[in-house]
Amino acid sequence: MDFKIAILPGDGIGPEVISEAVKVLKVIGKKFGHSFHLIYGDIGGGAIDKYSNPIPEETLTTIDNSDAILFGAVGGPKWDDPEAKSRPEDGILFLRKSLDLFANLRPIKVFKSLIDTSPIKSELLNGVDIIVVRELTGGLYFGSPKKRWITSEERNAVDTLIYSEYEIKRILKIGFELALTRDKKLASIDKANVLETGRLWRQIASEISKDYPGVELEHILVDNASMQLIQNPSKFDVIVSENTFGDILTDEASVLSGSMGMIPSASLSFLNTDNKSKKIKTSLYEPIHGTAPDIAGKGIANPIGMILSVALMLNYSFGLQKESQEIYKTIETILSLGYRTKDIVLKGEKPISTTKMGDLISDFLIQ
Ligand code: NAD
Repeated sequence: MDFKIAILPGDGIGPEVISEAVKVLKVIGKKFGHSFHLIYGDIGGGAIDKYSNPIPEETLTTIDNSDAILFGAVGGPKWDDPEAKSRPEDGILFLRKSLDLFANLRPIKVFKSLIDTSPIKSELLNGVDIIVVRELTGGLYFGSPKKRWITSEERNAVDTLIYSEYEIKRILKIGFELALTRDKKLASIDKANVLETGRLWRQIASEISKDYPGVELEHILVDNASMQLIQNPSKFDVIVSENTFGDILTDEASVLSGSMGMIPSASLSFLNTDNKSKKIKTSLYEPIHGTAPDIAGKGIANPIGMILSVALMLNYSFGLQKESQEIYKTIETILSLGYRTKDIVLKGEKPISTTKMGDLISDFLIQ
């Protein structure tokens, strides 16, 4: 089969980890007889430097002509001026909104051989297999008004947390549908004790649950959920959350897996649970981490979250479940053989580089 993929490396470690993901993609193409046409585009800080625009026209045209997008990360201290007219993050926020990528799926899986790497006690990590469904195009990140202003006395700023019934319903439905394909448990996260949006969220979750009698629904306040994620992570199956809460909870949950560098994500405009339609609308795949300026350029970033994002793309966008599974299995093998990048290495062990990790995964895949 033939697929066109927009490759948007971005800033910091984005280009380093995406190179390894591309290696893996090429090996999958060769092994299984697929043609992946890769078209590169600029986004983020690099695009601001080159075009004074974090998401230039050229990139939008590339995306228009693509079946899916593979994205690294954007941002960094160079573009952090709070007075700047545009920020690198505007590029990715624009894509999420314009492609209506409202569902961000973040699987939190603990690979057996990494259980000892996590700072969490190993007995708590057995059986942890969570998928966080983060609402991605609404809430606090997009609500209006969103601005800063100065009065005679001081500086002020406002962000707005707003959700429509439609937005809440569609993201919760994705969660319920996913739960049906898994352990049939859904944790709906809100802050209903304080926020009106939280109360609406909770009400709608209870209403929708009537259509899914086989799924056990639990409402959890976000502060409590953040505690339980560490105290009893294996209790969770599917977690559905508002945009900002989901962003924060998944960084926390990444600690379970040993490192932020391990977690992939899929941003979708709808879910293809029956795997019948092989191509869905243009979706975007990215690791959950950022540009990691503290390690950028050192060749030590963990590319696994980015490579697993390829696995998600093969599964959700192209219906290639076998190929996707092969990537997961190969990574499990590599980790069980003791190969680790610096972020997941055990004390006294020698870490391998970003490129070595990509090479090993590619070499094992081709066998
Ligand atoms: P970050 O995710 O970049 O880094 C947090 C910590 O995790 C750092 O110590 C970093 O070294 C480590 N880390 C992250 N990815 C890693 C990997 N693959 N391998 C090993 N270690 C890894 O978060 P931050 O430092 O808060 O943000 C840095 C920049 O990234 C900011 O400009 C922020 O706006 C941007 N950011 C972008 C995205 C995105 O493009 N989707 C997401 C988050 C943050």
